[in-house]
Amino acid sequence: MRILVVEDEEKMARAVRRGLEQEGYAVDVAADGEEGLFQGTEHAYDAIVLDVMLPGLNGLEVCERLRAAGRWAPVLMLTARDAVPDRIGGLDAGADDYLVKPFAFGELLARLRALVRRCPRERPVVLTVGDLQLDPAAHTVTRAGQPVDLSAREFALLEYLMRNAGEVVTRTRILDHVWDYDYDGFSNVIDVYIGYLRRKLDEDGRPQRIRTVRGVGYLLVPQEPASP
Ligand code: CA
Repeated sequence: MRILVVEDEEKMARAVRRGLEQEGYAVDVAADGEEGLFQGTEHAYDAIVLDVMLPGLNGLEVCERLRAAGRWAPVLMLTARDAVPDRIGGLDAGADDYLVKPFAFGELLARLRALVRRCPRERPVVLTVGDLQLDPAAHTVTRAGQPVDLSAREFALLEYLMRNAGEVVTRTRILDHVWDYDYDGFSNVIDVYIGYLRRKLDEDGRPQRIRTVRGVGYLLVPQEPASP
């Protein structure tokens, strides 16, 4: 069993490493989020112990990015006492369990064992259209492997367009599927959100993915396969 420990507090990292090694685990330690993300992406770990409070990339971001990169090693998040938003955020970010600091080492071991024993989670299918990927469970979007940060509404709109890629969807259909039924706000709300999405997806002068079909609606263009 190989475990990655991502923790910036040296004393804590050393103690966890020593304890895990005594239990027969192989342990790698990363001292910040960037390093944790790198190692977690490069190697297939049986589990990852991930502190939330890290310099630079925090634990939530590391977890999200690992999931976005298709790394599903079970993640045990370490959070501060009383940091309820961190616990919720951690689970939303794709962590499998959390442990509140300070903790008894025996509890960390028990939770790790439980995580490793558990069958790999059933993951819903990730939607892929060209270089766009959207994971409905992890709530992540990437374009060409780069994470794209979307609001909840933008995410829902993109998910709907991706499920109907290559098809023109009318504004009425989008309103029905993405907005609440009782929505009675301003009528160009969809155009506004399409604008937001385009800005986030097509930055750096990348070819535009969402086309306007005048008088009808919008079309998400499936990427042409790269020519050999
Ligand atoms: Ca820390």
